[in-house]
Amino acid sequence: MVTSEPTATPPLATDGGGNEIAVHVDHGMCSGTRNCERYYPDIFVVNRDKAWIKSGIEWASADVALLKEVESACPWAAIEVEAPAD
Ligand code: SF4
Repeated sequence: MVTSEPTATPPLATDGGGNEIAVHVDHGMCSGTRNCERYYPDIFVVNRDKAWIKSGIEWASADVALLKEVESACPWAAIEVEAPAD
């Protein structure tokens, strides 16, 4: 299920992707530690203690290795990344 942050501008979402990449943030597990935002601020932002995926991302030029690193670095396993290398 896609959840949208109603008041943030530009729109933020729990699901994002393109170019065969899919990223999901599970807000039931996210504790807002900001590891994802520190690792990859072009894609992740923490708002109201939850991580969100920014809009307007150029997924074709996203760093898949870094995304997988972010997935591994989340202490609550709240990030899921699907990418062609899987
Ligand atoms: S690293 Fe994980 S727990 Fe921390 S803000 Fe990001 S998604 Fe949430």
